Amino acid sequence: MSSQIIIGLECHVQLNTDSKLFCSCTTKYGGEPNSACCPVCLGMPGSKPVLNKKALDYALKVALALNCRINEKFFFSRKTYFYPDMSKNFQITQYEIPVGEKGFVQLQSGKKIGIARIHLEEDPAALVHESGMHSSNYCLVDYNRSGIPLIEVVTEPDIASPQEAREFLDQLTTILCYLDVFDFEAGTLKADCNLSIKGNERVEIKNVTGKRNVEKALDFEAKRQAEAISTGKAIVRETRAFDEAKQITRSLRKKETEADYGYVFDADLTAFEISENELEKIREELPELHTDKAKRLVQEFGITEYDAKVISSDKFLSELFEEFAKNVSPKTATFAVSGISSIAHYENKEVEEIADKIKVPELTALSRLLESGKINEKIFKEAAIAHVTLGKNPVEFVKKNNLFKDLDESNLKASVEKVVAANKSAFDDYKSGNEKALNFIVGLVMRETKGKADARAVKKLLEEM
Ligand SMILES: [Zn+2]
Repeated sequence: MSSQIIIGLECHVQLNTDSKLFCSCTTKYGGEPNSACCPVCLGMPGSKPVLNKKALDYALKVALALNCRINEKFFFSRKTYFYPDMSKNFQITQYEIPVGEKGFVQLQSGKKIGIARIHLEEDPAALVHESGMHSSNYCLVDYNRSGIPLIEVVTEPDIASPQEAREFLDQLTTILCYLDVFDFEAGTLKADCNLSIKGNERVEIKNVTGKRNVEKALDFEAKRQAEAISTGKAIVRETRAFDEAKQITRSLRKKETEADYGYVFDADLTAFEISENELEKIREELPELHTDKAKRLVQEFGITEYDAKVISSDKFLSELFEEFAKNVSPKTATFAVSGISSIAHYENKEVEEIADKIKVPELTALSRLLESGKINEKIFKEAAIAHVTLGKNPVEFVKKNNLFKDLDESNLKASVEKVVAANKSAFDDYKSGNEKALNFIVGLVMRETKGKADARAVKKLLEEM
């Protein structure tokens, strides 16, 4: 019997504005703790918050891109709680009326994941637990993070598996990157993950950092709950934490509800109104998003729909593709970006995470070598790996290691003939239709030519023979 998994996510995304949500302190603080603070983000009595217009614009952009209905009138509330990371003893957030509601994100399969709401809120301070002696007796507070603008994107419980949760987060971060409201390098995506198995209580896994961990935490939790239920144990409504090192979730506390926080209207921030004109302006400023870009790449460059979707799923990759395509054919450009993407995958990283290692002009030059037939696809990949992982100039790398294809057609033919003469029986097998024998001979020619031969050219010569 397969049990139905129900998942809902509350994603916290740090917006990449220059200043904080309610004061002019910088968000780009350096290493010194408590150096980017003022009376407002320290919660001093009498200090008055003022809403950062840019953060609101960013939140509205996200809400529109996620197909939400925008609330033209909204206000902020105080979420009351006592903890050292919140000096005011309340967090300014939105509860009753968020910026946007009732949107959706469409997955590749066409399935829509409902967005219940998107709201703006301030990040609390960071608690620093010193390791070593007496470590359990105290912790330090760094208010640099206090007041950083966040948006919370809350989904409906429409997600049916940990893999689908990952796909949703991939779509969400793609949209955030296209909108340019989220900094992949500096910012993190954190999620509270709710999971239940139909007919049973719901469990929340609090504060999971990063897309990969969300998928892993949900995976563990789905198995834990299914196993408990199959042995007749009841699932308790509770809050759990994900232990990244052990890859497990553990119980934190029995679940409190949102209403327990006692939200009250924040009288320091009066109600806000967005006019139809302002909203129209933001709508006009929305950039081309990934789904539209995929369609355009098919039309403009004649690449396949599949390739266009893969390339557009990452803003950086799609920009790289268009850059390459100025200099080489769409086919070569597609090969080049999929090569970069597979290097990131191999390094177990998101493409955005290796973006700063990529020098576009250098890789463009490498793509030109491939296009003009001076190197083959294998050498392209080798040089691209040296570029991304070791910071080498890829064209210099090819020169230094003498990886140019110095084989002209007659040289290649001579090599093929030499291999065939030495492997008569394999060649006979190939002639009688044995595909394995063909690959065997191609492999030998590659060895003979020190990897410089183009496998397709070798196959063509063998066919002719
Ligand atoms: Zn401040």
